[in-house]
Amino acid sequence: MSIASNLERLQNEIADICARAHRNPGSVALMAVSKMHPAEAIIEAYDAGQRLFGENRVQEWQTKRSALADLFDPTRTASPAAQIHLIGPLQNNKTSKAAEIFDAIDTLDSAKTAERLNAAAQALGKTLRVLIEVKLSPEETKHGLAPGGLAGFLAALKPLGHLEVRGLMTVPPFDEDPETARPYFQQLRRLRDENLATCPTLTELSMGMSNDFAVAIQEGSTTVRLGTAIFGKRIYENI
Ligand SMILES: *Cc1c(COP(=O)(O)O)cnc(C)c1O
Repeated sequence: MSIASNLERLQNEIADICARAHRNPGSVALMAVSKMHPAEAIIEAYDAGQRLFGENRVQEWQTKRSALADLFDPTRTASPAAQIHLIGPLQNNKTSKAAEIFDAIDTLDSAKTAERLNAAAQALGKTLRVLIEVKLSPEETKHGLAPGGLAGFLAALKPLGHLEVRGLMTVPPFDEDPETARPYFQQLRRLRDENLATCPTLTELSMGMSNDFAVAIQEGSTTVRLGTAIFGKRIYENI
Protein backbone atom coordinates (compact mmCIF):
# COMPACT_ATOMS: atom_id res chain seq x y z
CA MET A 1 0.00 0.00 0.00
CA SER A 2 1.25 3.49 -0.77
CA ILE A 3 1.52 6.24 1.83
CA ALA A 4 -1.18 8.19 -0.02
CA SER A 5 -3.64 5.30 0.00
CA ASN A 6 -2.91 4.56 3.67
CA LEU A 7 -3.64 8.20 4.54
CA GLU A 8 -6.89 8.16 2.60
CA ARG A 9 -8.03 4.90 4.20
CA LEU A 10 -7.14 6.16 7.70
CA GLN A 11 -8.95 9.48 7.18
CA ASN A 12 -12.04 7.50 6.12
CA GLU A 13 -11.70 5.21 9.14
CA ILE A 14 -11.37 8.20 11.46
CA ALA A 15 -14.49 9.75 9.93
CA ASP A 16 -16.42 6.46 10.41
CA ILE A 17 -15.30 6.10 14.03
CA CYS A 18 -16.27 9.74 14.69
CA ALA A 19 -19.70 9.23 13.12
CA ARG A 20 -20.39 6.18 15.27
CA ALA A 21 -19.17 8.05 18.37
CA HIS A 22 -21.34 11.10 17.48
CA ARG A 23 -18.29 13.27 17.07
CA ASN A 24 -17.48 15.82 14.37
CA PRO A 25 -14.77 14.27 12.11
CA GLY A 26 -13.09 17.70 12.04
CA SER A 27 -12.47 17.41 15.79
CA VAL A 28 -9.81 14.70 15.39
CA ALA A 29 -6.46 15.49 13.75
CA LEU A 30 -4.30 12.81 12.20
CA MET A 31 -0.62 13.24 13.05
CA ALA A 32 1.78 11.33 10.79
CA VAL A 33 4.61 9.95 12.94
CA SER A 34 7.58 9.78 10.60
CA LYS A 35 10.35 8.67 13.00
CA MET A 36 12.73 6.12 11.54
CA HIS A 37 11.42 6.84 8.04
CA PRO A 38 13.34 8.90 5.48
CA ALA A 39 12.62 12.45 4.32
CA GLU A 40 11.23 11.02 1.06
CA ALA A 41 8.39 9.39 2.99
CA ILE A 42 7.50 12.77 4.51
CA ILE A 43 7.48 14.40 1.07
CA GLU A 44 5.19 11.63 -0.21
CA ALA A 45 2.79 12.23 2.68
CA TYR A 46 2.92 16.00 2.14
CA ASP A 47 2.12 15.55 -1.54
CA ALA A 48 -0.90 13.48 -0.50
CA GLY A 49 -2.14 16.43 1.56
CA GLN A 50 -0.76 15.56 5.01
CA ARG A 51 0.31 18.65 6.99
CA LEU A 52 0.78 17.50 10.61
CA PHE A 53 3.85 15.43 11.49
CA GLY A 54 5.49 14.08 14.63
CA GLU A 55 9.08 13.03 15.31
CA ASN A 56 10.36 11.64 18.59
CA ARG A 57 14.02 12.69 18.54
CA VAL A 58 15.50 16.17 18.20
CA GLN A 59 18.65 14.88 16.54
CA GLU A 60 16.82 12.77 13.95
CA TRP A 61 14.57 15.67 12.94
CA GLN A 62 17.52 18.05 12.75
CA THR A 63 19.14 15.72 10.21
CA LYS A 64 16.01 15.13 8.12
CA ARG A 65 14.68 18.66 8.01
CA SER A 66 17.61 19.92 5.95
CA ALA A 67 15.98 18.17 2.99
CA LEU A 68 12.52 19.42 3.98
CA ALA A 69 12.99 22.97 5.29
CA ASP A 70 10.91 24.41 2.47
CA LEU A 71 7.80 22.30 3.24
CA PHE A 72 7.96 23.28 6.93
CA ASP A 73 8.71 26.97 6.35
CA PRO A 74 5.83 28.94 7.90
CA THR A 75 6.34 31.76 5.37
CA ARG A 76 5.92 29.41 2.42
CA THR A 77 3.29 30.52 -0.08
CA ALA A 78 3.23 27.76 -2.74
CA SER A 79 0.97 25.58 -0.55
CA PRO A 80 0.30 25.53 3.20
CA ALA A 81 3.34 24.77 5.36
CA ALA A 82 3.55 21.51 7.28
CA GLN A 83 3.88 21.48 11.08
CA ILE A 84 6.22 19.33 13.12
CA HIS A 85 5.71 18.33 16.76
CA LEU A 86 8.20 16.69 19.12
CA ILE A 87 6.51 13.60 20.58
CA GLY A 88 9.53 12.03 22.31
CA PRO A 89 11.32 12.93 25.55
CA LEU A 90 13.18 16.26 25.60
CA GLN A 91 16.53 16.44 27.37
CA ASN A 92 17.55 19.70 29.00
CA ASN A 93 20.60 20.11 26.77
CA LYS A 94 18.37 19.98 23.65
CA THR A 95 15.80 22.62 24.60
CA SER A 96 17.28 25.45 22.49
CA LYS A 97 17.54 23.30 19.39
CA ALA A 98 14.05 21.88 19.97
CA ALA A 99 12.55 25.37 20.33
CA GLU A 100 14.18 26.30 17.04
CA ILE A 101 13.22 23.34 14.86
CA PHE A 102 9.80 22.26 16.20
CA ASP A 103 6.45 24.07 16.05
CA ALA A 104 5.21 22.38 19.21
CA ILE A 105 6.51 20.21 22.04
CA ASP A 106 3.99 17.52 23.01
CA THR A 107 5.98 15.91 25.84
CA LEU A 108 6.56 18.63 28.43
CA ASP A 109 6.84 17.07 31.90
CA SER A 110 9.21 19.14 34.05
CA ALA A 111 9.34 22.72 35.29
CA LYS A 112 13.04 22.99 34.54
CA THR A 113 12.56 21.98 30.91
CA ALA A 114 9.62 24.38 30.66
CA GLU A 115 11.71 27.31 31.89
CA ARG A 116 14.51 26.52 29.47
CA LEU A 117 12.09 26.11 26.55
CA ASN A 118 10.37 29.37 27.42
CA ALA A 119 13.70 31.23 27.48
CA ALA A 120 14.72 29.66 24.16
CA ALA A 121 11.38 30.55 22.54
CA GLN A 122 11.67 34.11 23.82
CA ALA A 123 15.17 34.42 22.34
CA LEU A 124 13.78 33.22 19.00
CA GLY A 125 10.84 35.62 19.22
CA LYS A 126 8.32 32.81 18.97
CA THR A 127 5.61 31.17 21.02
CA LEU A 128 5.77 27.39 21.34
CA ARG A 129 2.64 25.35 21.73
CA VAL A 130 3.06 22.62 24.31
CA LEU A 131 1.21 19.56 25.55
CA ILE A 132 1.90 18.10 28.97
CA GLU A 133 2.76 14.42 28.90
CA VAL A 134 1.09 12.55 31.72
CA LYS A 135 2.31 9.21 32.97
CA LEU A 136 -0.70 7.12 33.91
CA SER A 137 0.97 3.73 34.36
CA PRO A 138 3.70 2.74 36.81
CA GLU A 139 5.95 1.31 34.05
CA GLU A 140 9.44 2.66 34.67
CA THR A 141 10.30 3.27 31.03
CA LYS A 142 7.45 5.72 30.49
CA HIS A 143 8.06 9.44 30.66
CA GLY A 144 5.61 12.00 31.88
CA LEU A 145 4.27 13.90 34.86
CA ALA A 146 2.41 12.07 37.63
CA PRO A 147 -1.31 12.97 37.45
CA GLY A 148 -1.22 14.36 40.99
CA GLY A 149 1.34 16.95 39.91
CA LEU A 150 -0.69 18.41 37.07
CA ALA A 151 -2.45 21.27 38.88
CA GLY A 152 0.84 22.50 40.40
CA PHE A 153 2.63 22.19 37.07
CA LEU A 154 -0.04 24.23 35.30
CA ALA A 155 0.37 26.96 37.92
CA ALA A 156 4.16 26.93 37.36
CA LEU A 157 3.65 27.29 33.57
CA LYS A 158 1.34 30.28 33.85
CA PRO A 159 4.05 32.98 34.04
CA LEU A 160 5.95 31.49 31.06
CA GLY A 161 4.62 33.76 28.34
CA HIS A 162 6.34 32.09 25.40
CA LEU A 163 4.72 28.71 26.02
CA GLU A 164 1.09 28.14 25.13
CA VAL A 165 -0.32 25.16 27.00
CA ARG A 166 -2.74 23.41 24.67
CA GLY A 167 -3.55 20.10 26.32
CA LEU A 168 -2.41 16.68 27.50
CA MET A 169 -0.69 13.73 25.90
CA THR A 170 -0.18 10.14 27.05
CA VAL A 171 1.28 6.83 25.90
CA PRO A 172 -0.40 3.89 27.63
CA PRO A 173 1.54 0.64 28.16
CA PHE A 174 1.59 -1.34 24.92
CA ASP A 175 -0.88 -4.18 24.69
CA GLU A 176 -2.13 -6.16 21.69
CA ASP A 177 -5.67 -5.59 22.91
CA PRO A 178 -6.68 -1.94 22.38
CA GLU A 179 -9.33 -2.24 25.09
CA THR A 180 -6.51 -2.36 27.66
CA ALA A 181 -5.74 1.28 26.81
CA ARG A 182 -9.33 2.51 27.33
CA PRO A 183 -9.09 3.28 31.08
CA TYR A 184 -5.90 5.31 30.46
CA PHE A 185 -7.63 7.37 27.77
CA GLN A 186 -10.61 7.91 30.07
CA GLN A 187 -8.29 9.04 32.85
CA LEU A 188 -6.48 11.55 30.59
CA ARG A 189 -9.79 13.03 29.51
CA ARG A 190 -10.94 13.33 33.13
CA LEU A 191 -7.70 15.12 34.04
CA ARG A 192 -8.21 17.53 31.15
CA ASP A 193 -11.81 18.23 32.17
CA GLU A 194 -10.87 18.78 35.83
CA ASN A 195 -8.25 21.38 34.93
CA LEU A 196 -10.05 23.19 32.14
CA ALA A 197 -11.54 25.81 34.45
CA THR A 198 -8.11 26.99 35.67
CA CYS A 199 -6.46 26.54 32.26
CA PRO A 200 -9.05 27.24 29.54
CA THR A 201 -6.60 26.53 26.70
CA LEU A 202 -6.15 22.93 27.92
CA THR A 203 -8.43 21.50 25.25
CA GLU A 204 -6.29 19.00 23.32
CA LEU A 205 -5.97 15.29 24.06
CA SER A 206 -3.16 13.65 22.09
CA MET A 207 -3.86 9.95 22.52
CA GLY A 208 -4.15 6.89 20.30
CA MET A 209 -1.58 5.15 18.08
CA SER A 210 -1.85 2.71 15.17
CA ASN A 211 -3.25 -0.15 17.24
CA ASP A 212 -5.63 1.71 19.54
CA PHE A 213 -6.74 4.94 17.83
CA ALA A 214 -10.36 3.81 17.48
CA VAL A 215 -10.69 3.42 21.25
CA ALA A 216 -8.87 6.75 21.78
CA ILE A 217 -11.33 8.58 19.50
CA GLN A 218 -14.28 7.02 21.34
CA GLU A 219 -12.78 8.42 24.55
CA GLY A 220 -12.29 11.96 23.25
CA SER A 221 -8.91 12.08 21.50
CA THR A 222 -8.32 15.26 19.48
CA THR A 223 -5.08 14.03 17.86
CA VAL A 224 -4.18 10.47 16.97
CA ARG A 225 -0.48 9.77 16.37
CA LEU A 226 -0.08 7.20 13.59
CA GLY A 227 3.24 5.83 12.38
CA THR A 228 3.10 2.20 11.30
CA ALA A 229 -0.41 2.48 9.85
CA ILE A 230 0.81 5.18 7.42
CA PHE A 231 4.46 4.43 6.73
CA GLY A 232 4.69 0.70 7.45
CA LYS A 233 7.09 -0.99 9.85
CA ARG A 234 10.11 0.90 11.13
CA ILE A 235 13.39 -0.83 10.43
CA TYR A 236 14.97 -0.03 13.78
CA GLU A 237 12.93 0.72 16.84
CA ASN A 238 14.22 3.38 19.21
CA ILE A 239 12.85 3.78 22.70
C1 LIG B 1 6.26 5.96 17.50
C2 LIG B 1 5.22 6.72 18.23
C3 LIG B 1 3.88 6.76 17.76
C4 LIG B 1 3.41 5.99 16.55
O1 LIG B 1 3.36 4.62 16.82
P1 LIG B 1 2.69 3.58 15.81
O2 LIG B 1 2.33 2.43 16.68
O3 LIG B 1 3.71 3.26 14.78
O4 LIG B 1 1.48 4.23 15.23
C5 LIG B 1 2.98 7.52 18.47
N1 LIG B 1 3.34 8.22 19.57
C6 LIG B 1 4.60 8.21 20.04
C7 LIG B 1 4.91 9.00 21.26
C8 LIG B 1 5.57 7.47 19.39
O5 LIG B 1 6.83 7.47 19.87
